[in-house]
Amino acid sequence: MSIRNAVLIVAGGQGLRARTDVHSNPKQYVQVLGKAVIWHTIKLFLASSKTDVILVVIADGDENIYDQAILGINDKRLMGAIQGGESRQQSVLAGLTAMSASNPDCVLIHDAARPCLTQQSLAKVYGSLSTHKAVLVGTPVSDTLKKTVAGSLETIDRTNIWNAQTPQAFDFKFIFEVHKKAVLENITSFTDDCGLAEWAGQNIIMIDGGSGNFKITNPEDFELAECILKGRSIMLNDVRVGTGYDVHAFEPGDSVILGGVSIPHNRKLKGHSDADVALHAITDAVLGALADGDIGTHFPPSDPQWEGVSSDRFLIDAVRRVHDKDGKIRHIDLTIVCEEPKIAIHRPAMKKSIATICNLEEDRISVKATTSERLGFTGRREGIAALATVTLGLPE
Ligand code: MG
Repeated sequence: MSIRNAVLIVAGGQGLRARTDVHSNPKQYVQVLGKAVIWHTIKLFLASSKTDVILVVIADGDENIYDQAILGINDKRLMGAIQGGESRQQSVLAGLTAMSASNPDCVLIHDAARPCLTQQSLAKVYGSLSTHKAVLVGTPVSDTLKKTVAGSLETIDRTNIWNAQTPQAFDFKFIFEVHKKAVLENITSFTDDCGLAEWAGQNIIMIDGGSGNFKITNPEDFELAECILKGRSIMLNDVRVGTGYDVHAFEPGDSVILGGVSIPHNRKLKGHSDADVALHAITDAVLGALADGDIGTHFPPSDPQWEGVSSDRFLIDAVRRVHDKDGKIRHIDLTIVCEEPKIAIHRPAMKKSIATICNLEEDRISVKATTSERLGFTGRREGIAALATVTLGLPE
């Protein structure tokens, strides 16, 4: 499978300005809301289905503290960390070199100490990469700027002046070549990657990341990050509940697909896609909670491109719509109604599969099954029905 979007998180710094007696570790490993700063940063990228791969560059000697920091993240998109170099520029090049074997189309380079990037900003970056080779997230300068000159002050015109943040996102081949060229020409003074892109004469578009996307630099910044991250999770108090219902009939075949799991059976389910009645019900429940149409609105059965496709595509898209609104799915409750096949032994696999598709913990997913006491179409073994209830939180 070709990789579209890779994320390179730079965590090699020592963060000396943020160190105090209380926070003696590099700032990316200091705990905020019970997790390391870098844990929050990695999680924010994993929350987007557009993120295909994440590589973290760490300092020599930080291996143990890094492993501690990412405990509990079980996502195969997170690669093993690699060691960086002396400077930020060298660390980024080490990361790009390590990534080059998998040849991604695009790369987002991000500071580990910026854990508060919003999903909205991230979605804008991913969206811009289809039309631009270089994208910079920043925020317009709002304070009046002064320059000290030999004991007196000068005011600097702040029109069109921006603070550069990260992610800074690029066409992979472009930025990799520019980094290598800088080494050949012995230029090591770049403080960010857009600096290299500018040096190469590349047009760069600017996306406003907001002041919340600040870099933790000073000791008091930990408290600010905590307030923002805590506020966001509390703010998801626009609680929505959606329901979904779907039915597919049996036809000759040798297995049914339920919840993304193939179950051997003497018949299959009939449908335009893979007829995964369970994932269809969950998809409709997510879309229902968002008040954003239904599965047929977004993936019309009349469109030949959805013929025979695996239904996780539909659910991944619905989950993306939740994340694009900075929302979170809280709980999924699925009930499958059929006389056959027997569901019970496949429940753990289905829970696991749905958890992977939705990027959700398994203890937030319930899979139940019932017969209909031989009554009605399910009772006559003509097909399978599924009902789903999804609870999600959106920002107020
Ligand atoms: Mg269906």
